[in-house]
Order: sequence, then C-alpha cells, then structure tokens
Amino acid sequence: TVAALAAGSTAAAAGPLDVLGVPGQINLDYAATAPCARAAADAVAELLPWYGSVHRGAGALSRRSTLAYERSRERVGDFLGVRADDHVIFTRNTTDALNLLARALPAGTRVVTFGGEHHANLLPWPAGAVRLPVPGSPATAVRSLDAALRELRRGATEAVPILVAVTGASNVTGEVWPVAELALVAHRYGARIALDAAQLAPHAPVDLAALDVDYVAVSGHKLYAPFGIGVLAGRSDWLDAAPPYLAGGGATLAVGAATHDVRWTTGPARHEAGTPNLLGAVALAAVCQALEAADRTALHLHEQALLAHLRAGLAALPEVCELRTFAAEAPRVGIVSFVVAGRDSAEVAAELAQRWQIGLRDGLFCAHPLARRLLAEAASRNGRADLPATALRASIGLGTTRRHVDHLLAALATLTDAN
Ligand code: PMP
Repeated sequence: TVAALAAGSTAAAAGPLDVLGVPGQINLDYAATAPCARAAADAVAELLPWYGSVHRGAGALSRRSTLAYERSRERVGDFLGVRADDHVIFTRNTTDALNLLARALPAGTRVVTFGGEHHANLLPWPAGAVRLPVPGSPATAVRSLDAALRELRRGATEAVPILVAVTGASNVTGEVWPVAELALVAHRYGARIALDAAQLAPHAPVDLAALDVDYVAVSGHKLYAPFGIGVLAGRSDWLDAAPPYLAGGGATLAVGAATHDVRWTTGPARHEAGTPNLLGAVALAAVCQALEAADRTALHLHEQALLAHLRAGLAALPEVCELRTFAAEAPRVGIVSFVVAGRDSAEVAAELAQRWQIGLRDGLFCAHPLARRLLAEAASRNGRADLPATALRASIGLGTTRRHVDHLLAALATLTDAN
C-alpha cells in the first residue's frame, strides 16, 4: 500500500509539473528540497547532447549552450517579474544569492531584518544590522518596520542607504509575510527591500514589479529544479558598482600584466565568474515556464485544501502541538511545524522514516532563534511542560496527495497511541 500511496508522486503521467519520485517513499519535505519536476528533467535531457561551453566557445554546441543559458535568464526574469533596470544573476541557491547581495551593498548601508528569518537571511548582513523582534501578526510586522525605519532615518541622512531584508514565507511556520505592505513602508523611508522567496516562490507567484520589491532570492532545488542553481534578481545599480562576488574568468573586460590592472564587466557576468551551471539554469527556466502556463489558482486551492486537512488532522491529535507566530488562521504556504509532546522529535522522525516510509524534517530548521521561541510559546499556549527541544516539519507541494497526508496522520496517531 505504501507503493500505491507514493504512486501519486511518480511520473506515471507526463505533465510538465508532475514530479519524479521513488515508489514507496512519501516525501513530505518539500520545504527542504522539492522533488524534480518532469519539465526540469526533460529540459536537461534535451540539452545534454548539446553540452558545450557557455560564453567560451565558437562551435555550434557552445553557441547553443550560450543561447540556452541566456534564454533561461530571460525566462527566469520574466517569471520573477523583473523590470528593465534589474539584473538576473544565477547563483548556487538562496544562501548564495543573499550573500552576493550583502557583498554588493554600498558602504555604510544599514540593514534591517526580523529575528524570525532563516539563517540565510540573518547571517550574511554586516555587523550592526538591526534585528527586529518576531512580530505576532503581519500588521505588527508592518508597524514595527515603520517605527524602526523612522528611528534610523532620524539618526541618518537620506543619503545613508538602508536595506530591509525579509522572507516571503517562513520556512518554520509557512506563514506568509505582508511583502507588498513592507515594501511600501521601506520605500516611504527611501529604503530598499530584498525578499527571501525561497519558500514563497514554489507556492505563489512572486513578481518584483507587482510587489514593488527591489531584490528577490530563490533556490532552484525548492522550485522543482535540481540542486546548484539559484537566482538573485533586482536593481542593477548597486550590483554593477559592487566588487565582483567571484573574481575570475568571465567577469572581466580586460586584464593587464600588473596584479591590480583589471577592468571588471558590468551586468550579471560581473558576479558569475567561472563556468556557469547551464543545466541548472535551463532546468529552472523550464519549471518557471511550466508554472507560468499552469493554473496557479487551482494549484493554490488544491494545496490549501491539503494543508487544511493536514492541520485539522494534527489538531485532532491531543499530543501534537503546532508551532506558529501569527494567528492560527493567518495565510500560509504548505508548511507545518509541530511537536509530539513527550517524544523526542529526532526519534519520531526516524520512526516515521523506518516504519512508515515518510520523509520529513526534524530540528530547528536553520532558524534557531525563531524555532526555539516558538517551541517555548507552544509549551505555554498548550500548558505543557513535556515538549521536546526540537520540532518536526511536514511540507507539501505539487506531488502531494490527500492519501500522503492521511498516511502521516495515521502514523502519528499510532505513534501517539503508543506513547
Ligand atoms: N531562506 C529560506 C526561507 C529557506 O527556507 C531556505 C532553505 N531552507 C533558505 C533561505 C536557504 O536556501 P538554500 O539552502 O537553498 O540556500
């Protein structure tokens, strides 16, 4: 039956957004890495015979590879709603993209972020970055940012650059942040805003122009493409003025004999030195196109129905406590973190894997400050002193079926019965 359960996530049908999977394995860990979509696999298979050097050769293979790489940049840019003055830079992942942006900030830039961010959006920023408290609601986040920027502007002239860096959806709770409202506040104070869309982009359209966001970072491996490709897209001026993220071939206009005699190029190539990840870029672009062609409202409604079913099932288990920052009904993508009272989360995860063939994540989810705080809050909200020190996270996406969710709920019911 486990094989039959997983069949919904294998590529029996041939739709571009069907995901690849292994029969018998139930993947409820999309937030860590989503399975690869058929569109990505097909695009890679089609290009493989044409494997050739990108930007570094004159042969037909090389020309086609270069064209495919630059077309992928355009497609990914379209998917992210880039404007005429934006660059689309291919990176390894979101972490890489945010580190690139951190290195591209003009001297003296003040960075403002929230304490609930993923480590990738907490740790790259320069010393002195302002870390606002985790807000209890989206409206509090907006007010808190407004107050912080007013304070920063009082002490600094208009000329001091400010960057606000926020997530689109939390990797711990799945809660969706009020990105457009935060962008409005940031711009009111002459600040720029960067969006960590690692978790939002796989679930909802992310459009730079529509949200009026200055920068966005995404990871291919969470967007149904393979590992090793990510994107930083956004305003070109800081990026063109910054030192190259990587120094090396492809980022230069001219190099003289003296060590300091280098003229760097502008544009995306400035930050992409070295032979790029052509297959990753092509795969990501193929998924972006497939998502654009799909009925995203229908995908959203389907996912929300599964999520509601999962959360209702978890709420019905007396030993299970959900982690959340905002009110229970606040909008979320398909991510739920929870604990089983009295049970070590790593042991529960291992049991789910071994006895039930369910893959999910345990730990503090690379958001230690937030996860610890939410565990403490869950203990007090539920009046329980026996919650473990780490949590479990189930996350869903394109290949998830209702039966997968039921399988997890049945496993947890058995496990908590045995408690
Ligand atoms: N931000 C968020 C919100 C994430 O969930 C993740 C991945 N867990 C990252 C950033 C980092 O992504 P990557 O590991 O692909 O660099």
